[in-house]
Amino acid sequence: MNTPFANYVERITKTAKLLNISEKTVSALITPDAVIEKDITITKDDGSSVTLPAYRVQFNNSRGPYKGGIRFHSAADLDEVKALAAAMAIKCAVVGIPMGGGKGGVTFDPKSFSRKEIEEVSRAWARSMASSIGVDKDIPAPDVYTTPEIMSYMLDEYEKVVGHSEPGMITGKPLALGGSLGRGIATAQGGMFVLEELIGVLGKNRNEMRVIVQGFGNAGYTMASILHKLGYTIVGLSDSKNAIYSKEGLDPEHVMKIKKEKGSVSDVSGVEVLTNEELLVSSCDILVPAALDNQIRDDNANNIQASIIVELANGPTTPDADAILNEKGVVLIPDVLANAGGVTVSYFEWVQNRQGYYWAEEEVESKLHIIMKKSFQDVWMFAQENKLPLRDGAFALAVKRIVEAMELRGRV
Ligand code: NAD
Repeated sequence: MNTPFANYVERITKTAKLLNISEKTVSALITPDAVIEKDITITKDDGSSVTLPAYRVQFNNSRGPYKGGIRFHSAADLDEVKALAAAMAIKCAVVGIPMGGGKGGVTFDPKSFSRKEIEEVSRAWARSMASSIGVDKDIPAPDVYTTPEIMSYMLDEYEKVVGHSEPGMITGKPLALGGSLGRGIATAQGGMFVLEELIGVLGKNRNEMRVIVQGFGNAGYTMASILHKLGYTIVGLSDSKNAIYSKEGLDPEHVMKIKKEKGSVSDVSGVEVLTNEELLVSSCDILVPAALDNQIRDDNANNIQASIIVELANGPTTPDADAILNEKGVVLIPDVLANAGGVTVSYFEWVQNRQGYYWAEEEVESKLHIIMKKSFQDVWMFAQENKLPLRDGAFALAVKRIVEAMELRGRV
């Protein structure tokens, strides 16, 4: 199986052929501007110390400062962080926001650390990266297993280092520290807006759509909840432990209540309990991977029953699987479009921090809707005109925009 970064290189190479881009430009598109690797050491609750690998990768700031989340996960190694940073540059260009790509990570299992120890890791990350990030340089945000609370620790630590207030150095903050209304649900809301556009052009009725969502965190739970309220039937859900399925439909809010009380989605009664692998290939119309990367691969793509896939997770589908899905006629809204609502509202948060003036939630939602709708239409039209799958269309549009900025700066 390819690594996540090898997948990115493969996609850029394919796009470059389509757009007839020079080798020099391709090389610039697959080379990060900076790879920052640090060892961070924290004191554990029992007085022992532990050293963890920490990363920040910065990818192409020709359209604006680097932007992207920080992941706390045992699989968050340098290759994965590089792939995620590169995807951020593409994503910002797909939705036309003036930012480049960035991503950070710490390789550890936060579930085996206490709240205090996670705070120590967060502060240590911000201290060690302080000289490389900042409001006009590189703006981190939450990602897998990082939260608004963690953003608060990072902001606080960063401001101690630089000695002044700079709320726009990080997004996904709690409201009390300069967060934006609507940020918590933005990724899922953006995914819903593009799904609704797709349903519209395909002439389908949402009340007849059965949905499976893999992952029950910020992206997955919120998406399931929004779609349920709109009238879609949520037939499958999962967390890191188990998956559940019900032909009659699940109420995500009830499932969350049970998960909070008892520990897993599989503690809900009257449902079929499956593995995550089984869930992906269960019967549905729409599959929403919203957990980790490399979930849909050449060994399971053929068995996927959904006719629409909405990639809320980053990198859930491998290039081999893409080819199989295209052959089967599955319409896939790629991560760089489907989950771009998160970075779009992060961008709104940054704009509000810089203005020192905050918008009402309706304003955030309406501005997000305008951007997601236009981005879907741009990608859809480009893909239709060039007879491309939506991922290839999105990549080609984004690469054109990035290359234009690089050329204007005389970088290529
Ligand atoms: P989160 O930490 O809130 O939730 C992650 C979810 O994945 C949890 O429900 C967890 O139980 C589940 N999970 C973990 N390991 C799993 C496994 N092996 N199999 C199945 N499920 C597993 O994270 P999130 O913010 O919801 O992010 C999920 C995905 O969405 C990631 O790929 C992330 O990069 C992407 N994403 C999130 C945002 C955002 O704003 N939250 C924005 C863009 C992209």
